[in-house]
Amino acid sequence: MNNLSCEVLVLGGGPGGYVAAIRAGQLGLDTILVEKQTVGGTCLNVGCIPSKAMIHVADTFNDAVLASRGKVPGVTSQAPVLDLLNAVEWKDGLVKRLTGGVSTLLKKAGVTVIEGQARMRDGKTCSVAGERESYQIRAKYVVLAPGSVPVELPGLPFGGAVISSTEALALEQLPENLAVVGGGYIGLELGISFAKMGSKVTVVEASDRILPQYDQELSSTVSRSLKKLGIDVMLEHSAVDYDQNAGGLNITSPDGATSLLTADSVLVTVGRKPQLSGWGLSELSLAMDNGFIRIDAQCRTSMTDVFAIGDVTGEPMLAHRAMAQGSIVAELAAGKNRTFDPAAIPAVCFTDPEIVSVGLSPDEASAAGYEITVGKFPLAVNGRAMTLGADGGFVRIVARKDNELVLGIQAAGKDVSEFAAAFTLALEMGARLQDIAATIHAHPTQSEGIQEAAMLALGQGLHI
Ligand code: FAD
Ligand code: NAD
Repeated sequence: MNNLSCEVLVLGGGPGGYVAAIRAGQLGLDTILVEKQTVGGTCLNVGCIPSKAMIHVADTFNDAVLASRGKVPGVTSQAPVLDLLNAVEWKDGLVKRLTGGVSTLLKKAGVTVIEGQARMRDGKTCSVAGERESYQIRAKYVVLAPGSVPVELPGLPFGGAVISSTEALALEQLPENLAVVGGGYIGLELGISFAKMGSKVTVVEASDRILPQYDQELSSTVSRSLKKLGIDVMLEHSAVDYDQNAGGLNITSPDGATSLLTADSVLVTVGRKPQLSGWGLSELSLAMDNGFIRIDAQCRTSMTDVFAIGDVTGEPMLAHRAMAQGSIVAELAAGKNRTFDPAAIPAVCFTDPEIVSVGLSPDEASAAGYEITVGKFPLAVNGRAMTLGADGGFVRIVARKDNELVLGIQAAGKDVSEFAAAFTLALEMGARLQDIAATIHAHPTQSEGIQEAAMLALGQGLHI
């Protein structure tokens, strides 16, 4: 047993934990990070990055298929062949580069990384069972960042044909018929990719629409695209269990009737839940909030000098929220005065089309009691969108009627994920409609749609 002590102990090396550790190290704090798998967490290893890599492969393949069918202006080609093994290998290479990069950054910041399962013994002590050695670590500050795990449905335990996103991102063979249970972020990002690579995809969604976390105007752009891609969507349906012999998923319709949906793979993506086991939660006396660790505006838990960050602390379970919190807790441990109080946390869904939402939607703004003005600019009339072969979409801006303060900005369309920075910056800077309308936006770019939406909200639309 090795006895160690440090100023900051970080449990979990995902985007929350590794950022906290790097920042604490940069600030000169003696820092130890414990990670049981590979630094980078869900995000780099089996989440954000691998999924976007496979989305890129699927898009490239789909474009080639369209070209072979004479549907790409100026390009004809033979029917392409998908090499899934090679795609997964490429994706794994990117993951290795990025996780290796994080290890280097941790080292550069002077952070000690210990590989192994961490278990808190009390609010200051953690034991780690490593492969070769075990440790007892005493720390002044503890940062809990154990992340989240996929929700499993009782009738559909993971294993065999029933897979989570982790297995879906490492398949050696393309499913012929893929049933996706849950039409949220992961189900649609990956479902669309599999459809583009050639699987017959059916989405089984319990709610009455897909992407229920986004407003209908945004989610309906994706619904239309699913239809075009040949993806069937069964709304208000529940998945019951997988019938191995029949090779299908038993599903129940809203009227209670049960039927069999042919599927060689079933991807279950009905949400993620905080990782609450395996790290000694029962040894601590942490106040909880709806199943998550309760934190205040400084990410402090109910225990002195114990912080919690990232997915284990609640929605939105997004990497950029975890990273922002990680940086704040490190600065607090270094004696700086910080709070986690963003004007908005951007949400981006990498579907086809992409959707991005920052701040309040029109309905949310009205429900919050604001009298609003809304400007909505269709990207179908934007020159750059046309040259990209983009198919519709819009930019929508929501502002207070009385003083034109921007409350929210949303968009749907090709590559609009990159708008997230401009939208979030506008809200952080307290932009008014006139600020955006009077800003010169480069031509030809889709971002001219942002300016046009602001001009429309002011009653000064130019290109429509
Ligand atoms: P995690 O990334 O889950 O990291 C927690 C770490 O703690 C893990 O490495 C784990 O091994 C370690 N750990 C747990 N228990 C212990 C223990 N006892 N001892 C030692 N180590 C332990 N978010 C976005 O913002 N954008 C996206 O595009 C996006 N795409 C996603 C796609 C998929 C398929 C998935 C699954 C998720 C996606 N997410 C995305 C969500 C994002 O991955 C998470 O919000 C983010 O990783 C949370 O960071 P975290 O640090 O809280 O936890
Ligand atoms: P999700 O919450 O996005 O979607 C889950 C969907 O499953 C919802 O539409 C819900 O109505 C449906 N559902 C729930 N129970 C069901 C059931 N029994 N049968 C059928 N449908 C059911 O969850 P997810 O797709 O698993 O993603 C998990 C989290 O990971 C997200 O909430 C997000 O925080 C994060 N994520 C983010 C991104 C991104 O930022 N681009 C991408 C992937 C994942």
